[in-house]
Amino acid sequence: VELPIHDAVLGRAAEFGDTPALIDGADGTTLTYDQLDRFHRRVAAALAEAGVRKGDVLALHSPNTVAFPVAFYAATRAGASVTTVHPLATAEEFAKQLKDSATRWIVTVSPLLETARRAADLAGGVEEIFVCDSAPGHRSLIDMLASTAPEPQVAVDPTEDVAALPYSSGTTGVPKGVMLTHRQIATNLDQLAPAISAAPGDRVLAVLPFFHIYGLTALMNAPLRQGATVVVLPRFELETFLGAIQKHRITALYVAPPIVLALAKHPAVAEYDLSSLKYVISAAAPLDAALAAACSERLGLPPVGQAYGMTELSPGTHVVPLDAMADAPAGTVGRLIAGTEMRIVSLDDPGKDLGPGERGEILIRGPQIMKGYLGRPDATADMIDPDGWLHTGDIGRVDDDGWLFVVDRVKELIKYKGFQVAPAELEALLLTHPGIADAAVIGVYDDDGNESPHAFVVRQPAAPDLSEGEVAMYVAERVAPYKRVRHVTFIDAVPRAASGKILRRHLRETA
Ligand code: ATP
Ligand code: MG
Repeated sequence: VELPIHDAVLGRAAEFGDTPALIDGADGTTLTYDQLDRFHRRVAAALAEAGVRKGDVLALHSPNTVAFPVAFYAATRAGASVTTVHPLATAEEFAKQLKDSATRWIVTVSPLLETARRAADLAGGVEEIFVCDSAPGHRSLIDMLASTAPEPQVAVDPTEDVAALPYSSGTTGVPKGVMLTHRQIATNLDQLAPAISAAPGDRVLAVLPFFHIYGLTALMNAPLRQGATVVVLPRFELETFLGAIQKHRITALYVAPPIVLALAKHPAVAEYDLSSLKYVISAAAPLDAALAAACSERLGLPPVGQAYGMTELSPGTHVVPLDAMADAPAGTVGRLIAGTEMRIVSLDDPGKDLGPGERGEILIRGPQIMKGYLGRPDATADMIDPDGWLHTGDIGRVDDDGWLFVVDRVKELIKYKGFQVAPAELEALLLTHPGIADAAVIGVYDDDGNESPHAFVVRQPAAPDLSEGEVAMYVAERVAPYKRVRHVTFIDAVPRAASGKILRRHLRETA
């Protein structure tokens, strides 16, 4: 693949012509492939005329809209690297990202303009703020469509030039800017094709955010490259989501475990016609096999497939291919994709390779590994060893047929009296309790410095009397004694990142 990302994705846009590329799930605004192609070229021309130059960083600060991909591919065509920003970021958080990435240009939407302005003031260095819609005093992407400026002819080097600069989710620490080249992203799209091979006629629902690498890949780059139709929703709200599946006859869902949980458990699901769905794929966080089965049985679909990856891997390394969904073992995150190597190494004796069935840290080597963390050579060197192996920080095991199972993150393992307990395992067990709507587990330390599992539980509305003792007992009856939950706290909602990951540090503050 030696094309810049906008050409790699939109190379066949003219051929797809009048096929809808994007539909706004709320108001029905539709962009055809032909429009997407023409519009992003016009906006690229206008951005170049406004001063955007090769190598500049442009921050894209927007919820999912039909304009998001227009702005993204226009910016890369103008030669910029796009840093995608959480639309709910505070001005302070946004300012940190602007500063860290030395952003020169912002594209935002009018409801977020105040935050963008404050962030730009705090950070300094921003030349101009553009808006996708319209706002007084700001150039608008809509007006840019009428630009007569020449299309920029930027010589992109796909191997060296950074196309996207997403930030990692910040689950385990400060979010880090991840430099992904055009080639890394395009290569990974090819590698993941067996699991994300949407085609013309397929309709994908983009409810997970485009700003996160999972949404950017599975919901934007992949379907647009293949002529599918992407229906966009700005946020996850269950009934709107179900209504959109029904109305737009959605064929494929790429979601994260909290949505699988809602599909499996929420009473409202039964009220919608979801018969257009052909498959559901989950990624970004551990998904329990029983929960996945409950979801697919309820929807009458093949077992929920999974994919595994991280921002630093552009992002995927493992998928359950669509043609293997029915046969893949329950709970697997998939098989290693083409052109990629994996090792599982001992946690106690790093460097020692483990065989099938043994749990250890997952190491990856392949062409989709990031160029590095922006401005953090030490963090990059900690992550990628001199032989090119990326240390994922995740624990997994592989079965005899090569299917990978992710246990949990190394950093989140709870050490109870020398035994290791994976929070994900306890969370999955808690979710099997009919009175529990959601759950998260962290390790807490007592005064003597001993760590033990602490469960945070959201009760089902129908089970208001569920007690701490009952929860602890439910777990105790089903696990080895060292895995017992020693403390239980009831909460209203589990704090989660946009990609569906449990934000355990928030729980730690309340423990
Ligand atoms: P940070 O690195 O800033 O702490 P993060 O690791 O959550 O944040 P991402 O790059 O969004 O940022 O997430 C990658 C991580 O998501 C992986 O390392 C892994 O722990 C988890 N993950 C992804 N897919 C799966 C999956 N299918 N099952 C279990 N965990 C998964
Ligand atoms: Mg990470």
